[in-house]
Order: sequence, then structure tokens, then C-alpha cells
Amino acid sequence: MNRPIVEAAGLVKHYRTATRALTVLRGVDLCLNEGQFLAIMGASGSGKSTLLNILGCLDRPSAGTYRLDGLDVLGASDDQLSHLRSRYVGFIFQTFNLLSHLTVSENVALPFLYQAVAPSDVRRRVQIAVQQVGLAHRVLHRPNELSGGEMQRVAVARALAIEPKLILADEPTGNLDSRTSGELMQLFQSLHRQGRTLVVVTHDPEVAAYADTCITLHDGQIVGESS
Ligand code: ADP
Ligand code: MG
Repeated sequence: MNRPIVEAAGLVKHYRTATRALTVLRGVDLCLNEGQFLAIMGASGSGKSTLLNILGCLDRPSAGTYRLDGLDVLGASDDQLSHLRSRYVGFIFQTFNLLSHLTVSENVALPFLYQAVAPSDVRRRVQIAVQQVGLAHRVLHRPNELSGGEMQRVAVARALAIEPKLILADEPTGNLDSRTSGELMQLFQSLHRQGRTLVVVTHDPEVAAYADTCITLHDGQIVGESS
């Protein structure tokens, strides 16, 4: 279980706007082994989403090194980067990001749109993922027929379906009430027990308590770590 999945060092991110340059990450070092469950906390604007997007290959740092499951992400071309992202990373967002005109199954099958996976395999993987999140009875429903907690479970199933190396969630409970939020975190905890590697960004200490390690970002730097 000591296989490194995330090996990032010296991550720096600058944003340039019309009027000024903004440094959002100032040398972040982060290592994560297979099966770890990490929470990232920090005030709004501290750089949490920026860091998560870099870990998820959605964005590139301005400086630093990053290996994902041993692969040099920053040496990859844009095409290779999106290939890595679509196969290695399951992303879960605060606003669920489901397509409203598609059913639950169709939403969970979306990541396979750009992958050469046989339709029978897609069906099997979607079915397994939907069962894992406890929504097998909802597969033909559309998002507007679901509760917020159910919608987020669909997003978790969509992330799981590709059998990712890394599951990343950016404020996944931000739009849920506290009971539903607890249920979602129990689902994350069960994925953790199955050996999944998870990173959850949150500013809720109750959510962070489900993780086995918690780091705190302040102004683009890691200022604390607790286990
Ligand atoms: P957090 O998720 O901790 O709230 P973010 O990583 O979203 O923080 O943002 C950190 C800082 O970077 C904020 O000041 C934000 O306004 C700025 N920022 C984020 N994305 C961009 C962007 N694409 N262009 C310019 N500034 C950005
Ligand atoms: Mg954010």
C-alpha cells in the first residue's frame, strides 16, 4: 500500500490578469500513497481549487514537478494530459455537474464517450458504479427527479466508473444539508476502506474529520498537517 500515486514538489501557480500578476500557490509539496484519504482545508481564496485542478490534470502549474502514478504529468503534451485525466482521475464538484437531459446511467457513462471501451463493458462498469453508490433503483431517472444527495452520488458513480487512480472532490458537500453531507462522507469512507485514493477539499472540519490526513493551505502554502 506504499505505492506513491501523487508526488508533487515545489508547485507554484501564477495568474496574470490585465492589471496584475497573482501568485496563488507558493511552493506546495505533496505526496500521497495509494489508499490514502487526504482532506485539504483553508480559507476561501487560499488556493485549494487551484491545487486540486493541478493534481487532477485540469491545469498546469507555473513551476514545480508532478508525477501521477509515476508518470511525469508536466512533460506531457495537452493531448496526453487530457488522456491521463480521463483515465486516471475521477472528479467530483460542489455543483454535481450532471447533464439534466440524460438519465442517471447515461450521466455515469459519459466518461466513456471518448474512450474505446466496448458497449457491454461500459454497461457493466456503469452498473457496478451505480450499485456502489446505492442508486441501482434510480438508473432511469433524470437529475431533476433526484435529491441533492442523490445527484452527488451520481457524480461519485461517474467518477468511479472509470476505475480511477485518484478521486478528487472539490467542496463535495457544499450544496448539501448536514445529514446528507454526513451520508456522502460515509460513502467516501467506504471507498477509502476499499483501498481508493481520495482527496477532498472542504472548509468544514466535520467533513475533514473523515479523512486520515488533513493539510491546511494558507495563502498558497501548506501551513499545517494533522493525522
Ligand atoms: P480556493 O479554492 O481556496 O477558494 P482558488 O484556488 O479558487 O481558492 O483561488 C485562489 C486565488 O486565485 C483566488 O484569489 C482566485 O481569485 C484566484 N484565481 C483562481 N483562478 C483564477 C484564474 N483563472 N484567473 C485569475 N485568478 C484566479
Ligand atoms: Mg475553491
